[in-house]
Amino acid sequence: MEVIKEAADLIGSSNFVVALTGAGISAESGIPTFRGKNGLWRKYRAEDLATPEAFARNPRLVWEWYVWRMKIIGSAEPNPGHIALAKMEEMGILKALITQNVDGLHRRAGSRNVLELHGNIWRVRCVDCGFSKMISKPPEQIPPKCEECGGLLRPDVVWFGEPLPKDVLNRAIYYASRADLMLVIGTSAVVQPAASLPLLTKRNGGILIEINISDTPLTPICDLTIREKAGVILPKILEEIG
Ligand code: NAD
Ligand code: ZN
Repeated sequence: MEVIKEAADLIGSSNFVVALTGAGISAESGIPTFRGKNGLWRKYRAEDLATPEAFARNPRLVWEWYVWRMKIIGSAEPNPGHIALAKMEEMGILKALITQNVDGLHRRAGSRNVLELHGNIWRVRCVDCGFSKMISKPPEQIPPKCEECGGLLRPDVVWFGEPLPKDVLNRAIYYASRADLMLVIGTSAVVQPAASLPLLTKRNGGILIEINISDTPLTPICDLTIREKAGVILPKILEEIG
């Protein structure tokens, strides 16, 4: 395919490649995206569950949804797309991997410089005292309680309407601004501020390559768009780079 060669050539002639990934890269690992047809849980949309208001109204319901997602994520494996990105970092090509995903699959695939913009589903945080810890399986009692103060524990992820962790966002802005090429993979590019990071790359003269099975609001400004599954195309690009 011509686009594979084109992508490999662009990557090969760049000095500072950065990737931005979204739920689409984990779709082939069996983890539903928010906006795909498998994303619904019971009758709820993600936008009605992943909010501080939903948690305040019904922490148990929100936790039930997270337990469902944790079970799916816990039994999922990184796919060839995650692995190709980890190899690109190992080869010295990819400098940073900015992800909106909370599933931890990039690290499990071997990526090291991972910036998790929206947190990690395996970390919980107390809404009262701020105590936080990693967990390795879904809590047995829901909603779980804080072992320090008895307050409610919540997933330590960024919900709709909440600010992103400042340090992570600042580092993402640094990498996006410095990149001379950004791979934008499997994101619907509608969740801000993540969706604006490619604009920084573009504004500073960088190239954007989009890998997505459908169009996004970013498509018109991308230099190259590949309409293919990430897990299929990324290993082919890697092979072409050699
Ligand atoms: P999204 O659900 O809004 O969009 C997914 C995008 O991936 C779509 O544009 C779709 O066309 C594309 N896509 C689907 N399958 C693909 C494939 N195999 N290859 C390439 N592209 C594919 O996801 P988003 O943009 O990441 O934003 C949603 C929010 O949902 C984020 O904040 C994220 O934290 C959260 N989320 C995370 C996970 C996860 O951690 N795996 C899963 C669902 C949602
Ligand atoms: Zn507490």
